[in-house]
Amino acid sequence: MRECASTMLNGRKLATFRRQLLGWFREFQRDLPWRRTTDPYRIWLSEIMLQQTRVAAAIPYYERFLQRFPDVHALAAAPQEEVLRLWSGLGYYGRARNLQKAAQQIVAKHQGTFPSSEADLLRLPGIGNYTAAAILSMAFGEKFAVLDGNVARVLARLGAIRGDLRESQHWQELQETADLLLEPKSPGDGNQAMMELGATLCTPKSPQCLLCPVAQFCEGRRLGIAESLPEKRKKRATVEVTLAAAVFADGKRQTLLFPPPKNTKEKASADHVPTLVSRMWHFPTLSLAGEPAGKLSAFLRKLMPGAASRNWRLVPAGKVRHAVTYRAITLLPFLIKVQRLPRVPGARQVPLGDISSLPVSNLTRKVARAALAAAASVPAKY
Ligand code: SF4
Repeated sequence: MRECASTMLNGRKLATFRRQLLGWFREFQRDLPWRRTTDPYRIWLSEIMLQQTRVAAAIPYYERFLQRFPDVHALAAAPQEEVLRLWSGLGYYGRARNLQKAAQQIVAKHQGTFPSSEADLLRLPGIGNYTAAAILSMAFGEKFAVLDGNVARVLARLGAIRGDLRESQHWQELQETADLLLEPKSPGDGNQAMMELGATLCTPKSPQCLLCPVAQFCEGRRLGIAESLPEKRKKRATVEVTLAAAVFADGKRQTLLFPPPKNTKEKASADHVPTLVSRMWHFPTLSLAGEPAGKLSAFLRKLMPGAASRNWRLVPAGKVRHAVTYRAITLLPFLIKVQRLPRVPGARQVPLGDISSLPVSNLTRKVARAALAAAASVPAKY
């Protein structure tokens, strides 16, 4: 890649590369809501949402979020529960928590004005090199080149780079190349052009080289190896996780959800609840090894000692599968029909068909759907 950057692409060739890439972007770019603004708050929000979410899925969330939190002050002042509710369904909720913490720091330390220096941005939670470069270039016109997996793939193909791109020396070289290729007069558009190329033409599978505005500079294409780049990284082995969840339902199909722990003390006392579910409002859930219904019963007696005398019947409500990074989760929901829901401090009663009135994870939604389906076929017997 160093060869591509410093010798193949210098002088006039470099200027041609930048001009062709930028010209293509300006003519063919997708019309995305965050491309109609230079407001750093909006650009930041879009970049955080897009970290683990596809563009089409992120757009409605982005618009709803901005309607409720139009600026950094509104986000900083909101109850965390509301922020998480508007994030609910996007997953990776640490992003939403960091977003709000950063907004609070911007209000407290920068009087609500978005920082425009790299050092100040990097001090904010959830902002790393990539996000800082995106904000600095797109909102403030500063020459900072972005580098993420998408851009790295394009650069690896352009320079026919083999090996693990995340290995630090490779990554450093890729960053230098991205810096060199970036159009200095329009760094925001230059970055977006590179990202757009990766998202629309130089895609992970089957790059569309015939339509590519910089195909003549592409070493991977010339060697016929573009499609096999970047080389695969070693995958972390999948870990199988089995969980069981209790879904109470009274005659009006109200159910019981438990809150996420508020502080470290509560987290420590809730350590029997898998963190996969406990960070949002959740059904009583535990990790399993062995016979699920008996273990769940014992767990419920411990969780709700006042209600322990009830002779609940646990009805299996199918099986829910869910994947989070390297974990393959099998969750066994058990429906418990009751006349009256147990009263548990901190827990809330919500309609089973509308659990999204609280911030819940996608896994909890799937459990609710499975329990609703089972509720329709299981007669009430308390
Ligand atoms: S020529 Fe093909 S492989 Fe090379 S950058 Fe363009 S789309 Fe990617």
